[in-house]
Amino acid sequence: MIFEGTTVLVLGLARSGAAAANLLANNGAKVVINDHKEESELDARAIKEASLPGVEIILGEHPRDLFKRWSFDYVVKSPGILPSHPLIQKARELGIAVLSEVEVAYQLTKGQIIGITGTNGKTTTTSLVKEILDLHYPEVYMAGNIGTPLCKVAAEASSEAFIVAELSSFQLDDIVSFRPIIAVILNITPDHLDYHGSMENYKNAKLNILRNQKEKDYSVLNLDDPLVASAAAWAKGILFPFALSGVESKGCGVEKDTIVIRNGSEVFELCSPAELKICGLHNLENALAAAAATYAAGVPPEKIAAGLRQFSAVAHRLEFIATIKGVKFYNDSKATNPVSAEKALQAIKGRKVLIAGGKEKGSDFKGLAKKFPSELSNLVLLGEAADKIAAAAEAAGFSSWEKVESIPMAVERAFQLARPGETVLLSPACASWDMFNSYEERGDLFKKCVNELKERLENEKGSFS
Ligand code: ADP
Repeated sequence: MIFEGTTVLVLGLARSGAAAANLLANNGAKVVINDHKEESELDARAIKEASLPGVEIILGEHPRDLFKRWSFDYVVKSPGILPSHPLIQKARELGIAVLSEVEVAYQLTKGQIIGITGTNGKTTTTSLVKEILDLHYPEVYMAGNIGTPLCKVAAEASSEAFIVAELSSFQLDDIVSFRPIIAVILNITPDHLDYHGSMENYKNAKLNILRNQKEKDYSVLNLDDPLVASAAAWAKGILFPFALSGVESKGCGVEKDTIVIRNGSEVFELCSPAELKICGLHNLENALAAAAATYAAGVPPEKIAAGLRQFSAVAHRLEFIATIKGVKFYNDSKATNPVSAEKALQAIKGRKVLIAGGKEKGSDFKGLAKKFPSELSNLVLLGEAADKIAAAAEAAGFSSWEKVESIPMAVERAFQLARPGETVLLSPACASWDMFNSYEERGDLFKKCVNELKERLENEKGSFS
């Protein structure tokens, strides 16, 4: 795909739209970037980044005659824009190719992309892959859904560089020839059904990561996940899977309490799961995926083992905050769907109080409620989804739930309910947008409330742990 001399409509002026507009303009495209938000509602840095010669910025509306005023060759869609958006539908009607920002980056980079997707665990695995690659290669970038848009690192990366890309289903929905040399799929469970319309569409978006792979590429698939494992039958790359129960001839698994990489007759013992600083079986799965991907990228096994041993939790993902009067507090604000909250409940041992609820995403909480462990003593609920979660809990025979209005109230109440030796876990199973701008903001408030509670009690009663 050559963008020089083309006219491109970029829809959405947030981080990825700005980076795409900038990269396209620097590669000779005429760009029109359009956002329905006013300038005052947008990030000034994004506007500055997009403000280049050859870029026209239209804010505060979607002009009706956009497709009449310009003859677009491509439309680049920001991940937050729904596929059903009238302008996207119009573009499709007119036969204009709709691209995601990662497709643009792929077309314009020399770097080698390692793509990581899945419903849960993407950020953890992406960060871990980056940390391991850094131990062996001099030029490694981390980009995509994790923060820095892929378009921002695309131009800088040399042909020797690895770009570790966290990819959401939104970003993978509109790829054309995007082809990671190593593609990792961690798991596929229901999420974002409001955006994709159906589980089938969501699954297909995730599986898109494999679509353009060639024989020499690697497909790192989770054999323990039925939907992901089923893709092994048609994946065109070299299968280098992972599974908690171990793998046959190739890939990464656990054997006799050791993380092992197998590559035909070669077998490498890396370390014991107990040596990992990240906790829970789900994080062990993330570690296996990262080990498989970095082995496929050519990192020697001893460096993979060193990376696995040194990596610690990413903020807002089962992040330990403090112990107050014997009650431990964990922040898992990034658990924005029921399955991730279920994993957190399994990972935290012993009796616990769960704080959950937030923005409804079309999720079904019945499965989560059925899997409430017997050590779950109480449920403190908040946000838009509180009633739906309460109803699911009741239906599963769990009635120790109560509702609160805010995170500060949830911290206070959960602390009253927990006994010494127990844990208070914020793992909402929902997005944060009903009360916050982001899950980070929610998690930061939780941490602040926990730390303030600790300080207050210390001041009242002298020191304790
Ligand atoms: P993502 O970027 O896909 O949202 P994260 O690494 O940020 O994933 O983790 C989000 C939440 O999902 C964590 O708080 C944790 O509770 C849960 N989680 C992490 N890894 C997995 C996994 N492999 N399977 C299921 N749940 C997971």
